[in-house]
Amino acid sequence: MTQIIETIDVPADTRDVVKSTNCDICGNEITEPRMYDVDEITVERQTGTSYPSDNWNEYERFDVCTGCWKSVVKPIFNFGPRKNRVDF
Ligand SMILES: [Zn+2]
Repeated sequence: MTQIIETIDVPADTRDVVKSTNCDICGNEITEPRMYDVDEITVERQTGTSYPSDNWNEYERFDVCTGCWKSVVKPIFNFGPRKNRVDF
């Protein structure tokens, strides 16, 4: 048996990735914190159902920069946010 081998192009995989995120209030690009640091703000509403056999969820999210978190979001409330700290 003789096989004839030819080289063909295999298209590279493509996928959508988040290149940047802009603040939904001021429009400025939200910059990533330094490596190993976390500073993410998401104002989110989750709705849906949860039955034993079926469920669905829908999320509404706003991305907010740290500047707008301090100057716009926190002043809306007359009290501080609920804080949790997790060490592991
Ligand atoms: Zn902002």
